[in-house]
Amino acid sequence: MPTEIQKNIDAKALRQKLARWFRQHGRDLPWRRTHDPYAILVSEFMLQQTQVVTVRDYYARWLARFPDFTALAAASEDDVLHVWQGLGYYARARNLHRAAQEVAAQYGGQLPDDLAAIAALPGVGRYTAGAVASFAFDRATPIIDANIARVIARLLNLQEPIDTKRGAEILWQTAEALLPPRGGRLHNSALMELGALLCTPRAPQCLICPVREHCAAENPESLPRKKPRPKTVALAENCAWIVRAGKLLLEQQTGSRWRGLWKLPVLASPVAKAQLLLAFDYPFTNHRVTLSVYASRAPLTLTPAQQWVSLTEIDSIALAAPHRRAIKRLAAQDALK
Ligand code: SF4
Repeated sequence: MPTEIQKNIDAKALRQKLARWFRQHGRDLPWRRTHDPYAILVSEFMLQQTQVVTVRDYYARWLARFPDFTALAAASEDDVLHVWQGLGYYARARNLHRAAQEVAAQYGGQLPDDLAAIAALPGVGRYTAGAVASFAFDRATPIIDANIARVIARLLNLQEPIDTKRGAEILWQTAEALLPPRGGRLHNSALMELGALLCTPRAPQCLICPVREHCAAENPESLPRKKPRPKTVALAENCAWIVRAGKLLLEQQTGSRWRGLWKLPVLASPVAKAQLLLAFDYPFTNHRVTLSVYASRAPLTLTPAQQWVSLTEIDSIALAAPHRRAIKRLAAQDALK
C-alpha cells in the first residue's frame, strides 16, 4: 500500500530521467557486461561487504579459477577460502560454495529463472535474490542495498530510521512502487548507480541530479536516519609465536566465524610483557580487538588442529587477515630464526 509521500512521486517520469542519466554516466563494471547468473551471484556475494575497486580483481580471479557453478561445486573448501582470502567475511565464501553445490545437485549447474529458488540458496537474502533476478533475468523485482536505501530515504525525506521494521517496509514498498512494469535490470542498476555516484553519503550532488525535481530531501546529508549504534567493545586476543627449524606453528579454526582459516595458536595462560613481539588493533563487528603476539615455547605435543608451516607455504594457505598481517611483519623482522 503506497504512502502519501510515495503517491506524490511521479514514478514514470523519475524512471525515464534516471534511465537517461544512467545510459550516459553509468560505470562500465565487469559484472554489468554479463547476464550470466553465476557471475552475477559471485559479484553480489563479493560486493556485500567490499568496495567495487577491491572486488574487480577478486571477481576476475575467481571466475578464472571457478568459471561456473559446476566448477565451484567441485572445489575443496580450502581452495575456495584461499581464492577468497583478503576479502574478509569468509561466511560469504562458504555460502557461495554451498550455493554452487545446491545448484549443481538440484538444477544441473544452471540457476533457474525463479525468485523463490534463488532466494532459497544459502547466504542469499532478499536483496541478493532480487539483484540476481533483475540483473541476470531482467525481472522487475525491487531491491534495497545501501545505495538504493539512501536514495529512497532522501527522495521521501524519510525521518523514520531505515533499520527499523517500519523504515525497512517503507523502503521496500517505495522500491516496488518505482519499478517499471517489466525489465528491472536497467532501473535497479540506475537507482543503485545514482546512490554510488551522485547521491553519496556525504556531499550529495543535488544540483546535477537527474531526479532532483522528484526529491523531497530537506537536509540530504542527514539521511538516511539509523538507530543509535551499539558501543564498541574491547577484546584481547593473545597468540603465540612458536618457531622450530624455520617453521611456524599455526592452528586451523573450527566452529567459529573463522572456521577453516589458519591463525597463530591462542595463548591461554597469562603472558609476561617481556615476551611481547607485536601488538595492534583491528575492528571486528562491534569489537575493537587487540591482537598481541608473544614469543613462546613449542608444546610437547600438537593438537589435531595444529601444524608446522614453512614461510614458503604461508602464501598458499588461507589465513585470517589480521594474523597474515602479524606473520608478515614478524617474518620481516626475522623472527622465524
Ligand atoms: S536531489 Fe540530492 S538528495 Fe535527492 S536524490 Fe538527487 S542527489 Fe539525492
